[in-house]
Amino acid sequence: MSDMIRHNWTRDQANALFQLPFSDLMFKAQTMHRQFFDPNQVQISTLCSIKTGACPEDCAYCPQSARYDTGLEREKLMKVESVLEEAKAAKASGATRFCMGAAWRSPKKKDMPYVTAMVAGVKSLGLETCMTLGMLDQAQAQELSDAGLDYYNHNLDTSPEYYGDIITTRTYQDRLDTLGNVRESGMKVCSGGIVGMGEDEGDRAGLLLQLANMPQHPESVPVNMLVKVEGTPLADQADLDPFDFIRTVAVARIMMPASHVRLSAGREEMNEQMQAMAFMAGANSIFYGEKLLTTPNPEANKDMQLFKRLGIRREEYEVNEDDTAHAETLMAAVAEARNDQFFYNAAK
Ligand code: SF4
Repeated sequence: MSDMIRHNWTRDQANALFQLPFSDLMFKAQTMHRQFFDPNQVQISTLCSIKTGACPEDCAYCPQSARYDTGLEREKLMKVESVLEEAKAAKASGATRFCMGAAWRSPKKKDMPYVTAMVAGVKSLGLETCMTLGMLDQAQAQELSDAGLDYYNHNLDTSPEYYGDIITTRTYQDRLDTLGNVRESGMKVCSGGIVGMGEDEGDRAGLLLQLANMPQHPESVPVNMLVKVEGTPLADQADLDPFDFIRTVAVARIMMPASHVRLSAGREEMNEQMQAMAFMAGANSIFYGEKLLTTPNPEANKDMQLFKRLGIRREEYEVNEDDTAHAETLMAAVAEARNDQFFYNAAK
């Protein structure tokens, strides 16, 4: 099967996939999906914003940018203990991966002890860990990897050609460099983009070409649908045809057959039929919204009900006992070094 994983896609080939009749594309994607995955299993991640708002970057879609007046309340970096409480709730609600996001250009030196303690603590709970903290240099990537971070998310967002219409405060190459540093450090890569930002089909193909022609495909490829937020430059963007979103998922599945393709932002605005179609197109990972954390009974959760109706099972994460033990040791060391009980107590 490894010969089906290619890194030499041409633009014509990517465009041709997008232009297939819809049923042909869906059939091709579903056939590919079944060769690499159980088609009835979906991986579940939960996202926790560990530091919200006041970001100096100017991503045109993002309510967390300090440049746009979106009414978002800024929050400081969460306490390690509070993050671990959220992680426990996420685990109890069925998540196997806990993603922590901070609205930073890149983490500062003073932040690193806290975020690495979060990684070790979440890991010691038996969850997979993922972070998105902005750009990383090689040393920062290594530090996170050494703390036990499994995945690092850093999206390319769109094609190199359209990128300048969306972000001006960091270059496409900056993003590729961060992804290179993440890979180099041994962590898994989570990278995808956003559709519905006014790009054309060629841009969607261009984004997937960038990802699929990396020497190693990202293990996780989030496909986000733009969530239009009042106050951001993209607030009045015209709606994307939902079939174009599904096509993007299907082409991602075909071009990166062994990667998890994730339905991320924008899923709340999709009806159940569209979500089911995305699963048929090869999406096999979802983000539970943060609101899930306040839902006491997972059976009452809408996502779980949809899974049940579609016969979808949750993909299990096999906890590596060595990793957990390593994380517990790290947490103890962090607590001792800082003489700060909340680091350690919360891990229990
Ligand atoms: S870097 Fe991240 S948090 Fe900051 S504006 Fe861009 S998307 Fe938003």
